[in-house]
Amino acid sequence: MSQAAPGAARADEPAALITQAWQQSYFDAARALALGRRIVELTRDEPSGVHAAFGWLHVALAQARGGDAVAARDAAAKAREGFRLADHRRGLALVDEVLAIERRRAGDVHASAALQADIDARGDVGYDDHDRFVAHNSRAITAKRLGRADEALRHFYAAHAAARRTGWPGPIVLSLSNLSGHHLDLHNLDDARRLGEEALQVARESGARHSVATIAANLIVTHHALGRVGEARAMGEFLRTHLQEAAAAVPQRLAAPLALAHLAVGEIDAAERQLAAVPPASAADADSRAVRAWIAARCLLARGQAAQSLAVTREALADVEQGRAIAQPYDLLQLHRAAADAAEQGGDLAAALASTKRSQAQYEELVGRSARARYIALEVAHQMDATRHERDQAVESRRTAENDREHLAALNEQLRARMAETQRLQRQLEEQALRDPLTGLNNRRYLFEMAPRLIDLAARAKNTLCVVLVDLDRFKQLNDTYGHQAGDEVLKAFAVLLRQSLRRSDILCRHGGEEFVIVMPEISGDGAEAMLTRLLAIYGELRLNSGLRQLPSGSFSAGVAVYPTHGSTLDQLLSRADRALYAAKDAGRARVEQAQITQFSSLD
Ligand code: GH3
Ligand code: MG
Ligand code: MG
Repeated sequence: MSQAAPGAARADEPAALITQAWQQSYFDAARALALGRRIVELTRDEPSGVHAAFGWLHVALAQARGGDAVAARDAAAKAREGFRLADHRRGLALVDEVLAIERRRAGDVHASAALQADIDARGDVGYDDHDRFVAHNSRAITAKRLGRADEALRHFYAAHAAARRTGWPGPIVLSLSNLSGHHLDLHNLDDARRLGEEALQVARESGARHSVATIAANLIVTHHALGRVGEARAMGEFLRTHLQEAAAAVPQRLAAPLALAHLAVGEIDAAERQLAAVPPASAADADSRAVRAWIAARCLLARGQAAQSLAVTREALADVEQGRAIAQPYDLLQLHRAAADAAEQGGDLAAALASTKRSQAQYEELVGRSARARYIALEVAHQMDATRHERDQAVESRRTAENDREHLAALNEQLRARMAETQRLQRQLEEQALRDPLTGLNNRRYLFEMAPRLIDLAARAKNTLCVVLVDLDRFKQLNDTYGHQAGDEVLKAFAVLLRQSLRRSDILCRHGGEEFVIVMPEISGDGAEAMLTRLLAIYGELRLNSGLRQLPSGSFSAGVAVYPTHGSTLDQLLSRADRALYAAKDAGRARVEQAQITQFSSLD
């Protein structure tokens, strides 16, 4: 794909070298730096011309990406001077793009974001496709660092579209690799895998060697998370061979994925050796501590060393909680899961249950992220489809002037059908992320997204709001006597009853098992208590069947906490409702209790 400069220009002329430098800038940074310096040298007679400025710009870009902040800023200042004299808007904007990269690399993400916003406010500065790739890629990474995952994903897609238009392998490989890596962070594993495999293929075909290792490492983690153990192992083998061929020592960041490739297929010795062979560069290596810990804990578990495994996970979780280590949501999930398994193997069932609950919460968070990422991926695919259709339509209508009306209508119909299908998929995904599949009620994720908003509303309107925890009584007994299927029927019937009896503005959510949370705006504690007492009577009258057997009548216990009396956040209110629920159970079940007003509510 690397072509010689067009016939007229000599290969050694600054203009031709600038094009080459652009092609190399995201392919082989060392060559791009050398080209930048060569341009500067060739333009010595005219040190503040536009060509010289582009030379300095390339020096600055390569230095910024290589992490030499001083050299990058020095070169950027020289580039700016040249562009300023020529009043070259595109060049000036590109200098700021480079500085935004340099600022981010130096750890000042906010300065980076501010520079980018400033560039965006200038309107059209005449960017070409490669400039757009650089700009979107950099905005994506800045957004990601700022925790704006969705915005980051959209920029990664835009960077990829621009990269494709350049036709240059450097930007194409990098954009695919970044997209895939971000989907992996968001736990959207199918897209992560598809894009990762495409990235690896293009990287290998084009000889983008240094991207190969990163892409392969991400693919190992993706395959492992998808349960594709054979692929994970094969990718590990590939990565090891690749590093050997390049005669490269295993970098620290690749140790964990390589160990994981072994662990996936039960090669415990090899996995542990891999972790031990490449220890973290420093104690402050916060990024990889969580992932190394869960892999180590899994190895210990496989050896039957539950106590040591539990100790490893606890230490890592404490590090994360106290900010000594950074854990991606997926790594947190794995840590909690390993802790649960270790506690269970060690016979500490209470600890196992607590860790399972945490891992479940973490999983729900991941599912939410994953669904949003999938949604954005679909939306982008749909937009690209639509644009392609528009272009095809235009071409088509020019070619056949006569019966184009009919043709256009057909194309439009097709487009409409696709849009409808995409929208249906999107809605379905959103729904799935927010609903409990058994009862169709909302899940905890929805609760934690919506309830704080309702509490805010209540605060502004100076209204009360109730948070109610409902737990079905002696449900285990029902399961044990009539079977799990019967239990499921009861849960579904109870959900229907809740939906029929409560207001549409109430949030109904299955909190887990046979526990439900109801958030009721604009009602007093006494009002909620009366409402639930009525519900208790109706539920007691309900006659349910499972198969041919009639089930005994059931009851529930409920705890009610009132905003603002018992707390001002969802967590506080849930914890107070939980205590009230326990009081109801203690008092004999089949009843509703309101939280007590204590003077120590701030200790919750
Ligand atoms: P209590 O009156 O103290 O609440 O007693 P309980 O038996 O209801 O409480 P416990 O929490 O000990 O048991 C809850 C049971 O709910 C345990 C579990 O088997 C059952 N369960 C949890 N989720 C489901 C589910 O999705 N379907 C069915 N059928 N049963 C479930
Ligand atoms: Mg329960
Ligand atoms: Mg119960």
